[in-house]
Parts: sequence; C-alpha cells; structure tokens
Amino acid sequence: MANARFETTFSFSRHRANCPVLCRACGHEIVVAPSAFADVFPLPVTIKEAERRLNCTVCGARRARLIPVPMPAAR
Ligand SMILES: [Zn+2]
Repeated sequence: MANARFETTFSFSRHRANCPVLCRACGHEIVVAPSAFADVFPLPVTIKEAERRLNCTVCGARRARLIPVPMPAAR
C-alpha cells in the first residue's frame, strides 16, 4: 500500500480502503466505506472536491477533511 495514491473518491474502492473523514469545525469523525463514497459520488471526484461537497452530519459545516489513510475495508 506504500505507493497507493488517493486522488479521487474512486481510489478508495480501487484500494478497498475506508476513508476517515474529519470535520474541521466540530471535530466529528466518521469512517466512510468505499461503497458509501460510490453512492454519494457516482462519478469520481478529487479528494479536494469531495471535501468541498461533504457537509458534517453533526454541525452542518462544509469543512470536511478526508484522511486518505488506507484502512482495510471489512469484507
Ligand atoms: Zn461538524
């Protein structure tokens, strides 16, 4: 996984990786499964674009931070 590159939301499904998403406004953190990303973004968007579009389920702020650290997805 050392040279895995996470440039778009599709990178996560390609690498079967979950993505921790942190809200920079309130600190709320969730882990998004690759299949959930595919539901929200049917077409691949860049990590930066996804950060702009996601809003926090707790405080509603659009200050998401995607942390593309490969986490093995549950099988
Ligand atoms: Zn928040």
